[in-house]
Formats: sequence, structure tokens, C-alpha cells
Amino acid sequence: MDYQKLAELCFPEVTQTPEDLEKIYPPRQLPEGARVTRMAPSPTGFIHLGNLFGALTDERIAHRSEGGICLLRIEDTDEKREVEGAIPLLLEALAYFGITFDEGATADGETGNYGPYTQSHRGDIYKVYVKKLVSEGKAYPCFMSEDEIAEIRQYQTEHGINPGIYGEYARCRDFTLEQVEEHLKNGEKPIFRFRSEGDPEKYFTIVDGIRGEISMPENVQDVVILKKNDLPTYHFAHVVDDHLMRITHIVRGEEWMASLPIHVQLFDALGLEPPVFGHNTVLMKTDEATGQKRKLSKRKDPELSLEFYKKLGYFPEGVREYLMTILNSDYEEWRMANPEADLKDFDFQPSKMSSSGTMFDLNKLNDVCKDVLARKTAEEIYDFMYEWSLQYEPEKHAVIEADKDMLLKVFDIDRGGEKPRKDLVYAGQIFDFVKYFFDGYFEYESPWPAECSPEDCREILRLYIEGYDPADDNSAWFGKVRAIASQLGYAEKPKEYKKNPDMYKGHVGHVSSVIRIAITGRANSPDLWTIQQIMGREMVERRIAAATEQFK
Ligand code: GLU
Repeated sequence: MDYQKLAELCFPEVTQTPEDLEKIYPPRQLPEGARVTRMAPSPTGFIHLGNLFGALTDERIAHRSEGGICLLRIEDTDEKREVEGAIPLLLEALAYFGITFDEGATADGETGNYGPYTQSHRGDIYKVYVKKLVSEGKAYPCFMSEDEIAEIRQYQTEHGINPGIYGEYARCRDFTLEQVEEHLKNGEKPIFRFRSEGDPEKYFTIVDGIRGEISMPENVQDVVILKKNDLPTYHFAHVVDDHLMRITHIVRGEEWMASLPIHVQLFDALGLEPPVFGHNTVLMKTDEATGQKRKLSKRKDPELSLEFYKKLGYFPEGVREYLMTILNSDYEEWRMANPEADLKDFDFQPSKMSSSGTMFDLNKLNDVCKDVLARKTAEEIYDFMYEWSLQYEPEKHAVIEADKDMLLKVFDIDRGGEKPRKDLVYAGQIFDFVKYFFDGYFEYESPWPAECSPEDCREILRLYIEGYDPADDNSAWFGKVRAIASQLGYAEKPKEYKKNPDMYKGHVGHVSSVIRIAITGRANSPDLWTIQQIMGREMVERRIAAATEQFK
């Protein structure tokens, strides 16, 4: 068979050669060891944690190397899965979490010398390589109809034969030039299949950047490389793109692992050096109901969507920090040794990524956020709350805006120093945490202490307001609370009460609880004296008066 002739017959319009493309997309002039990575999403519209997880991986791997580049390529050759406007949304979501690209698709075009970066605009490029494979007898036009393929599949299933189009089932594989000409003359449009020379008995080994050395059987399938609509399949497109875009490291989901033999074969058939492949794991969680580990699910787990974190007001830095802890096994240790360092200084290594399911744990994320927020200034927390509420909580925004000075003081309680408070997690939670400072949001959330009768509560509040002086310092203030306790038959110290429980109604803690609940609505709060200093006399008096009403 004259394959050169076959190639001309199939692609008369293709005049460029791979050599021409090599000149247009030459090897990058980068420092030795620079890594080039890409995020290659299909625009399906659902933007999830896996996207961010992958993007952070690509970004870190590239930028940890001097001169490294991370680009964005849009894989939109599967028209069925495409959703309008998905890319700007994805870019926006990733930018919110601090991830931007050096090159590639943008919300309104693209930047860089290795484009186009959207696969549907690269049709002519793919054809150059399909033509090359056809001209070397490594790919061929296939005219089998959908029905024919379905029949074969059914036959194979019924007879327990490995399904697919290969060997004797690849009916067009050994067509003569005349047969092809005849089909073309009939106006039939072929798809193109790779002519696999794989041997199912043979294994090949490859070093996966994440999993280490792996061994897999060769591919035997004559996979489709170019579809009827002239667009390539993922298998073929990514091989051509990753080569021409001079990608050094591919990190992708483990669902692509099974087709790795196809990809290795395609790189080989094209005479191209494959990049390092790294297959990461899916995000898992422990199911609340069953206690079993399972994949995060779009249907069951709202935390899979990135919008979840934006809406609740998670600080992007906290989410990023947490993802780093599940991305690289020694990150936490590094962070402990370098609490103040920028996460960019961490030496991110693909080989330290998990190869057996990455556990995602919302509680752990919250803990990490507490640490991250403990290092923020009151001003930074306020500014974030301001922007978050502006976008998601207009009612809360009104009070956040009106009471800036008060909130700055609130956020400043026990901030800085050796042991900063760690009770702020995300904007929604922070608002709940401080909302008793706003009259419109104040409510009694804790029960009054059982040790104090309603009469005692009233009396505690009466005596308290009688002696209340905002000019008292913390110890003078607490001295007065003690005096009230003692006057009403409560121990001045919890220890005394524990020693002689029959001698007292309760202790000073119960008395101060009454005051605390009256002022904050809660049995637990940061230092009450400080809270009152921030609230000011008027609010304190108002709260005590309102609480007294509870005991009429
Ligand atoms: N478009 C593929 C996906 O969304 C990308 C896989 C890859 O990164 O190569 O799964």
C-alpha cells in the first residue's frame, strides 16, 4: 500500500508538515530545569474543588522551578459536554483562590506564543499529525457505521471477547487504496483510527511523577484519533498539544491512567518525547452517615463546589493552605517549622503527592483556617468581611459597614502576641461569632445558669448595674463581681465552692455567667471586661436592663 498516496487522498488540503510546526512552536528558551505545566479543563460548567486542587498542583510544580510556566488550555473537543461561559467562571473562581496563569486562554482571548490554546481552534494542527501518521501507515481512515460498531460490541460481549475495535474487528484497517477511494467517492466521511501494533502479552514500564514506576500492558485498540467533525479525541489532542506547547509535566486525574498505554503509544508513533505523566488521586471524604470513605460527590457534598467556600466566606488563603497540606505529605511539618513563611517557599514535589486517595476533611480545613486567620490583622479581617458581605450578605453588610470602628476593636481582641486567639474560621462564622455586638442580631443563645434562681439573676443584674463603672480596670471590675457573688451567697472562688458545695448556692463563675449572658447572649465569649469596653456604657446598660426584664 502506498501510504503516502493514501495520506494525500485523505488530506489534500493539509500542506503543512510537523517540521513546519516545530519551527512555529520551537522549544522554549527557559533556564535549565524549568517546568512547564498546564491546566486543561473541559468547559463543563461545574467548577469544583478538584479543579482548584489540580490547578494548585500545576501552578506549584511550575512556579517552584526557576522560569517555570503554567498555562491554561481549553479542551473543548467534546461538544456534548460544553457549557457557555464556563471558562470566565472558572478563571474567576481560580483567581479568587489566588491562581492565575502565565499563558494561554483568558476570559477574553489568549496570551502566549504557543497558541491557539483552545483545542477547537487547533483543527488544522491536529490534521498535520494525523496526515503524518497515515503517510507512515500508523493511522487509517475508518468507514464503519455506528450500527456496525454496536453489532461488533454485542458479539464480543456475548462471546466474552475483549470489546473494541482492534485486529480482525477493525474492518477498515487493511483496506486497499481502491477501497478507500470507493468509500470516499460515495461521499462517506471517515473517522481516523490509530493502527495499534500493541501486543496484549507485553507490558511496558513508565515512571509516573506521582506514583513512581508502573507497569501496564500495551494498548491493542485501534483508537479513534480524529472524529467525523474533524476534531481530535482527547487521546490524540493532548499528545499533539503537550508536545507543541512544550509541556514538561502533565498532572491529571487518575481516570486517565487506564488510557496511558494509548498515550505512550501515540507519543512513540509520532516520534515525540513524552512529558512526565503524573496521575493524582480523587478527593475522598468520610461519609457522615456510614463512616465509610468515598469519593466526594456533586450530588451529596456541597463542599465539592467552589462556590460553597465563596458563599460562606472562607479566606482563599486558608483554603489554599489546607489544600497544600493534603497535596504534599510533608507540608504540615514544613509549616510548623516555618509558621510565617509564604507557602510559595515550600519545595513542592509531585513525588510527595498521595497516590492512594486524598482525604478531604472540612473540620481539618476549619482548623487550618483558624491558624491562618490568627496571623491576620484586624484590618485584614474587617476588609475581607466587608467584601464578602457586600457580595453575599447585603443585610449584614449594612451593619459591618456602619460599625467599622467597633468591629476593628472586636477583631483585635487577643490578636498578635505569642498565643493569639484561634476562634475565627470563615466570614459567615465570624459574623455569627461577633453578632451580639449588633442589637439587631442579639439573642439569648445560652440558658441562664441553673445555680442562679430568677430572683438571684435579677438581683445580680441590679447590683451589677448599680456598681458598673466603665472606668474600672479589669481587676477592679472583677472585684465588684466577686463582691456581688459573696453578698448573694455564692463562693468568691470556684475552688471554695468545690470544697464546700453545701455552703454556697454556686460560685463567682455562675454569677459572671449571668452578666455575660445578659450582655452577649452567650455563656462563652472572649474577655467580658474587654467586650464591655468596646460596647460602651450605653449598650451595656441597655443589655442589662433588657435582661432584667426576663426575670420580672
Ligand atoms: N480535559 C481533561 C479533563 O478535563 C484534562 C485531562 C488532562 O489534564 O490532560 O479531564
